Amino acid sequence: QQQQLKGKVALVTGGGSGIGRGAALRLAEHGAYVCVIDRERERAEIVREEIVHGGGEAVAVEADVSNADSLRSAVVHAAERWGRLDIVFANAGINGTWTTIEDLMEEDWDRTIDINLKGTFLTLKYSIPYLKRQGGSVIITSSVNGNRIFSNIGASAYSTSKAGQVAFMQMAALELAEFGIRVNAICPGAIKTNIGQNTNRTAEAEAAAIPVEFPEGSSPLEHHAGSPEQVADLVLFLASPQSSLITGTKVYIDGAESLL
Ligand code: NAD
Repeated sequence: QQQQLKGKVALVTGGGSGIGRGAALRLAEHGAYVCVIDRERERAEIVREEIVHGGGEAVAVEADVSNADSLRSAVVHAAERWGRLDIVFANAGINGTWTTIEDLMEEDWDRTIDINLKGTFLTLKYSIPYLKRQGGSVIITSSVNGNRIFSNIGASAYSTSKAGQVAFMQMAALELAEFGIRVNAICPGAIKTNIGQNTNRTAEAEAAAIPVEFPEGSSPLEHHAGSPEQVADLVLFLASPQSSLITGTKVYIDGAESLL
């Protein structure tokens, strides 16, 4: 059981921090060879070292998921390194700038959609030729944002990107079913990661931003934010043969936050 992913190759975007890091470590623990992709080389490298230190195998690749050339070469690197690709965790994402629609800058809208939504498309686009060879599992990180009626005010670009990922996941699940490729989305509630610090936005956008309150206590189940390790358990399940009939589905992992 511990080595249930032995011989499988997994690619994790945004693998250098938070949910991606947690999943990369968990998949490696269960025997997968992991390609850690992040636009921050050092972060990816540290996670690679953590995996190797734990007895696993990994490579770290610097790539920006919103840049086709950069991402294509990262995916090719991963698949060619071990000769196959079985598991794709399309997870890299940013909060973007949370502000009113009238104050949201066009370039901020574009950046959020480019990384969160186009990045997901590009990750699948370049992975599919490899996944088709033997089938596989794709997991996309959406969010409770964009998937429930009451979302946080100010998250228009973010919520649109996260809702778009679910529509894209459903189309991909239908299109890829005949190749034995499953595609699912996970919708985390508040999870303790570095997403609040990884804003990477311009000074003008920073000035327009509504501060995002960290929603401590937003989970009715645990009354505190979840951990990347809890999300990693779900990613492992969706990546493994235990979920062989599950495709085209979004799974909330939020302690019932989405029901509030
Ligand atoms: P995080 O900031 O801790 O980790 C994200 C990683 O992605 C970082 O290492 C960052 O460098 C990388 N990244 C960002 N843009 C990239 C790009 N263009 N190309 C490659 N790598 C890039 O954040 P996280 O919370 O772990 O976020 C992961 C995913 O989870 C995101 O899609 C986010 O929307 C989603 N999510 C997070 C929460 C939460 O509460 N933390 C809730 C729901 C959904």
